[in-house]
Amino acid sequence: MKLDIIRGSGLCSNCFILSEENLKQLLVVDIGIGGKLTRFALKKSLASIVNKKFSDYSIEIFLTHCHIDHILGENNLRDFEKVTFSASEKAAKHINSRDDVTLVSKYGGKINYSIDKIYLDGEILKFGDIELEVIYTPGHTDGSAILYDKEGKNLFAGDVVFAGRACGRVDLPTGNRQVMISTLGKVAKLDIEHLYSGHGPDMHKNIKANILSAKQMMEYW
Ligand SMILES: [Zn+2]
Repeated sequence: MKLDIIRGSGLCSNCFILSEENLKQLLVVDIGIGGKLTRFALKKSLASIVNKKFSDYSIEIFLTHCHIDHILGENNLRDFEKVTFSASEKAAKHINSRDDVTLVSKYGGKINYSIDKIYLDGEILKFGDIELEVIYTPGHTDGSAILYDKEGKNLFAGDVVFAGRACGRVDLPTGNRQVMISTLGKVAKLDIEHLYSGHGPDMHKNIKANILSAKQMMEYW
């Protein structure tokens, strides 16, 4: 498996592209905000990864939650024919009904797809040899979920926790501070060596302490 990272600038989320060239499969974790705003960075990376042989590849887009800055970059994917959008049950509900939890009505833009596949809490997203556990982690939104690769000790955390002892804000629709505290307690128990968050840099050491500090800040907040 190969991992390419499109670092989000401004409000745009980070996007993570996992690719299996032999299987002609791609998994993208979050697609950021619309391509024009981000100069189609995701689109360009995908084109180079598949060497412009878009029709050879199937691509799954897993969205860690329903916020505008993670879900609106669908215009980066239009060269592909086999695209599956996946998310947690509640994130799917917000995206498919285009409700206010997505923040799209507040900031503008349009969602041009629906979620095809729902993962329940604890379900495995299989990508080549890798098993990614979908873990429901509400708090930032009620439908937030993370992807955990137990064997490789990788975590794709969305806006649950960031480097710098921070967690996602809890003042947006369906955000909940108490729920976030309990989610951070749950995530801190995972064995993680590589933290890939929805915004900011990745982390490769002291991750448990980072998560526990974020939890502590939430508790005193
Ligand atoms: Zn968010």
